[in-house]
Amino acid sequence: MSGMANKAGAAAPGAPLQDGAAAPAGGAESFTDFLPWQQAPARRWLASRERFAHAWLIHGRPGCGQMEFALAGAASLLCESPRDGLACGACQACRWVLAGNHPDLRRIRPDAQAVREGALDVAEDAKKQPSREIRIEQIRSLLPWFNTATHRGGWRVALLYPAEALNTIAANALLKILEEPPEHTVFLLSAQAPDRLLPTLVSRCRRLPLAVPPAAESLAWLQARGVKDAAARLAAAGGAPLLALEQARDGRPVKPDWLELFLDQASRGGDGAALADALQAGEPADWVDGFQRLWLDLSLGVHGLPPRYHPAEAARIAAIAGRLDPAALARAADWLGEQRRLARHALNPKLLADHAARHLLQSVRPARAPGRADPGAGA
Ligand SMILES: [Zn+2]
Repeated sequence: MSGMANKAGAAAPGAPLQDGAAAPAGGAESFTDFLPWQQAPARRWLASRERFAHAWLIHGRPGCGQMEFALAGAASLLCESPRDGLACGACQACRWVLAGNHPDLRRIRPDAQAVREGALDVAEDAKKQPSREIRIEQIRSLLPWFNTATHRGGWRVALLYPAEALNTIAANALLKILEEPPEHTVFLLSAQAPDRLLPTLVSRCRRLPLAVPPAAESLAWLQARGVKDAAARLAAAGGAPLLALEQARDGRPVKPDWLELFLDQASRGGDGAALADALQAGEPADWVDGFQRLWLDLSLGVHGLPPRYHPAEAARIAAIAGRLDPAALARAADWLGEQRRLARHALNPKLLADHAARHLLQSVRPARAPGRADPGAGA
């Protein structure tokens, strides 16, 4: 085992279980385990190993565990005595995977991600921000590895996550590799938005879409982790259990202040000043996302359907939706979509908050079309 030490990105023997300790957002599982709702699809996926594709793009909505699926998939491919197709967690290969030093496994991710996982030390280079991109050097560093013999002649697995972090040069270098794939090697790429990847790269991968897990399984999983208000959290996260867990661990309120203020002012009227203040206290990218979810609920309400993200606010959402102008709602939805692209680089968050508060309240004002029922407005 000593020969496995000090591979790039791997832990030295005896070092803390860096990779294993940091991997799944779930915390309790080691990353040789699939999340509960992934086990059945994983078994189906792994069942046909003899005609297994050499590159997979594992994708799904944020917070549904596609990276965890890729990690556990790598462990299962490397395991020496898989149980029912999945990693046993106990054999030599699984122990190496858990210790982060399996010679046939490489994890390619941005330095910023490695730091988050505790697998890369920032202290030595604290002046420089760790990179958010997967760089070409990381792809090139794989080349000599392809020419080394694998342990007991098994698979070699390269994990790339998130694939969106590949910059164009790195993506093209990876594409070159996939055009003449090295023997015994499987590439597992995980992504949230395949449409943001180089199309030629996507076309070289088999796609493995992961569905949003059934709510009952997600709820049980969150409750087992001590998450309070698990149902409301899960709904607010659009059914994505890992996102719900992350938001709970970050101490985010189930219902942010701006949401209460918006529903209140949209119902009873208000100039938006308090709402603008509440928005300013948050991250534009967060509240823009939040408004997009609320907008979806309002659109459902316009059609008489129950809200998906805010079931506890069904009555107020239905009342607002029942009297607004659907065209104004749609225009504001477009505006939110535009802001979502810009929000991460908002030049003036205060201006954006002020504008959003006024604009969005305005867009749910009661419709005044002739002949339309307008119970909320008027004398
Ligand atoms: Zn094993």
